[in-house]
Amino acid sequence: MGMFLCFLAMIAIFILFAIWQTKIYHKKIDVLKCEASLLKNANEYSDDAIVIFSKNNEVYFANKAARKLLQLEIHYRHKPLPKEIILQTGNSYAQTIFEMIEKQNKITAETIHVENIALTVGDTTHSVNIYIDKSEESKDLIVCVIQDINIKAKEDFERKNKEKIDELTELSGYSKAYEDINKFILASQKQPGPFALYLFSIDRFDIIRSTYGHIGADKILQKFAHILQGYVSTQNLAYRFDGENFILVYQGIKDRVEAIRIGEETIAEIIGLINSDSNINARVEASVGIVLFPEHGHNFNDLIDRAFNALEYAREKGEGSICIFTNDKQKKEQQTDAIKISEIRTGLAHKEFILHYQPIIDLATGSVVGAEALVRWKHPRLGLIKPDKFISLATRSGLIVEIGDFVLHEAIRQRKIWSKFDFRDIWISINFSSRELNMSHFAIRLEELFNMNQIDPGFFNLEISEIDVTNDIEKANVEFAILKKIGISLSLDRFGIGGSSIKDLHGLPVSMLKVDRSILGYIDTSKDHQEMIKAINALGHTLGMTVLAEGIETKSQLDAVKQLGCDFAQGYYPGKPLDAFEFQVLIRS
Ligand code: C2E
Ligand code: MG
Repeated sequence: MGMFLCFLAMIAIFILFAIWQTKIYHKKIDVLKCEASLLKNANEYSDDAIVIFSKNNEVYFANKAARKLLQLEIHYRHKPLPKEIILQTGNSYAQTIFEMIEKQNKITAETIHVENIALTVGDTTHSVNIYIDKSEESKDLIVCVIQDINIKAKEDFERKNKEKIDELTELSGYSKAYEDINKFILASQKQPGPFALYLFSIDRFDIIRSTYGHIGADKILQKFAHILQGYVSTQNLAYRFDGENFILVYQGIKDRVEAIRIGEETIAEIIGLINSDSNINARVEASVGIVLFPEHGHNFNDLIDRAFNALEYAREKGEGSICIFTNDKQKKEQQTDAIKISEIRTGLAHKEFILHYQPIIDLATGSVVGAEALVRWKHPRLGLIKPDKFISLATRSGLIVEIGDFVLHEAIRQRKIWSKFDFRDIWISINFSSRELNMSHFAIRLEELFNMNQIDPGFFNLEISEIDVTNDIEKANVEFAILKKIGISLSLDRFGIGGSSIKDLHGLPVSMLKVDRSILGYIDTSKDHQEMIKAINALGHTLGMTVLAEGIETKSQLDAVKQLGCDFAQGYYPGKPLDAFEFQVLIRS
């Protein structure tokens, strides 16, 4: 009996032990299940595609990103990946993911890491990085992680966009400037915090871009931004506003004298560093407009508008100038802004436009042989204004055609007077725009005008900018041929920045190339520019054209272009634009 009881007790203990072990086992299973589910969830929501293969090439698991990337059907499990999913590097043949794994198996040990490989799924190809883990710990499973680089690039882009960073220069952009400056202004209501806002703008950037191309121009922007970045501190902030315009906010500047001094020092340093960089071929200048907070405005928009206004005034003083906003200028700004299309129309009706004539000299003899007619507007409020204030508005509105009409009639009238009173025979160059060239029967109408006025068309030369011609070379060829037949000569204005090729120029009925002043500005000092002029001269002369050097401001520039073989010169040194009465003194017989 005792033995039996002992046996029963042992069975009971065994059962209890078995129950206890089962409980422990289930607990372990639960923990494992929980861990597996957490892992699965983590994998499921990973942005990278994760595929787990069993060693017989079947898909054991694919997370959400993988199902999307590989376009897997709902019942994808325990089947190989579809055959249309292939991988290909630059020069290798196409292979499936599993083939790659097998090939790599023979070469390397535990993990495989292949970057920037093309993954084709049906019609779509992605650039991907692939990581494969076939280590011992993963037992019979192979873990494959696929990172879509395109998506990563998009995410980077979105991040930069969110932080409002400019892609090219890595500086913060306009909207960040807007946000930050408005924050300063708001904070200054509690504790006054004056600051200066500098608007830097690279001068004649359109010309730099057409001369040195997008890559050359972008290099300059990046360099500018990089140097500007050096000024950033807890006190100062820098932004790329747009195009070639940059902003620097300098906190704690109290007065105009200090603001101008810092502006001058900063721009001198930036320009000095750019121009001494041997990787940059262009010679760069920048102008600066300055505004002070709170003196010149109480919100971002007012400050920026006035900074642009100050910049405009700086530019009027000449390239590389600096100007701080003043309230007098604010008044003028409002008036200048008020130039409306209707005003140009009234100006034409009231005969407010006049012509000035700038002498063109023959470099061989030094005498005046021609004049460029340059339009001016005797504005009732603003005084005499130059074309840069209204030509682009006139061009956009189409009123340039009427202005061009006035210029032609007036130049013909003036030329007839000079003939009648025996002034020396000179030609008159007239600027015309592509808009006029595109008018129907432009050449025929000109012929009629010359016939009606009984004047020799040979006294006139039409100037059209190289850029306008290269934009529609075929049209130019047709119209120019008619003009030439009529006896009117043609010049390519602002030559050297329009990107025309020898093929474009060959056969184009043009008699003169007017080399843009951006190329001639450094002609007496820069070897590069001298070589450029030599090449233009050789090209022009070979094609039977003469070459005029424009924008000559000093004697040494004049001597240089003469020595380099140009035929004609024009610029402030040989003579500024003058009204007809002043000009005719130069051509008295
Ligand atoms: P453009 O044809 O290149 O004319 C030369 C411009 O350079 C003129 O400016 C002239 O005053 C200026 N200039 C001449 N020599 C020098 C110099 O040594 N240094 C500097 N810094 N500048 C010099 P302006 O009169 O302000 O004319 C500007 C532009 O307006 C002209 O450039 C031309 O494209 C346009 N324009 C002028 N008159 C007419 C016109 O009647 N019709 C059309 N369609 N455009 C015109
Ligand atoms: Mg011109």
